[in-house]
Amino acid sequence: MSNFFSSGDKGNNFFSNAGNASDLLDEALAEEQSKTLNEQYNDIKNNYEEIFIEAAESIRKELDTFKPENPCADCVVKDCKIEKKDVFAPYPAGCKYRDWQMQALTYLAGDYRQKLKAAYKSIMDRKNDYACNCCGECCKLAVSEYSYEQLKQRALRGDKYSADFISVFVPFENEEDAKKINPEYFEMLNLLVEDERVYYYYCPKVKDNLCTIYENRPNICKEFPHNPLKLLPTECSFNAWKNAVSHDAMLLKAKTDIINFYKEKLG
Ligand code: SF4
Ligand code: SF4
Repeated sequence: MSNFFSSGDKGNNFFSNAGNASDLLDEALAEEQSKTLNEQYNDIKNNYEEIFIEAAESIRKELDTFKPENPCADCVVKDCKIEKKDVFAPYPAGCKYRDWQMQALTYLAGDYRQKLKAAYKSIMDRKNDYACNCCGECCKLAVSEYSYEQLKQRALRGDKYSADFISVFVPFENEEDAKKINPEYFEMLNLLVEDERVYYYYCPKVKDNLCTIYENRPNICKEFPHNPLKLLPTECSFNAWKNAVSHDAMLLKAKTDIINFYKEKLG
């Protein structure tokens, strides 16, 4: 749950060009930031399938590094009739490929998950290369799949994000009021959630696009955006970060989805 549907380094390829590097970087960032929400959405949608295949292939290669080499030659279980010796085959007890399956599961749930956590941290750390332009869009329109009552219940049950969210945001009385704030963003959010119900919120502390408690704003505000795969308002300067890390973030999401699939199949 998040308030926005929202993973090369900051223009690093531009610095290598001849001429004024900082002008080139500014141009590049301006271009990234001017992408419409529709373009952002289509970028994510069009690239994900390709990236999913890249992620699956990379995981398969990792698991192959400790796959036993031709254990069938001295197999104690004869005649298993398994032709394709991939990690998902129904190997019988006593088969060395079955041991490999179990090792794969342990590796993916342990060391590999740690690698993914480190990759996530690196993506989030790269956000520090960018700064908020104080457009106020994330304060004026936030969205959650939970109603205010549901958020309160979740907060009472110990969900920290829900507690933080309702400590900042209050619900719009109706969707029309929310739509007036940023019609393009509102439409894209609706398109993304398809048939799911979502609820719109705003922060009463924003005045003339500026935070009236900026120095003491809550962490949930300081840490925004929380996810590089969520849609951001076009005005948000962190679109440059989102675009810079989008391939890595999508790869990470694909790997996480694939690991969950492995766990379900092998666990
Ligand atoms: S507290 Fe300030 S920074 Fe946070 S949402 Fe409200 S206006 Fe924005
Ligand atoms: S939408 Fe982005 S640039 Fe605008 S105030 Fe929020 S974080 Fe800052």
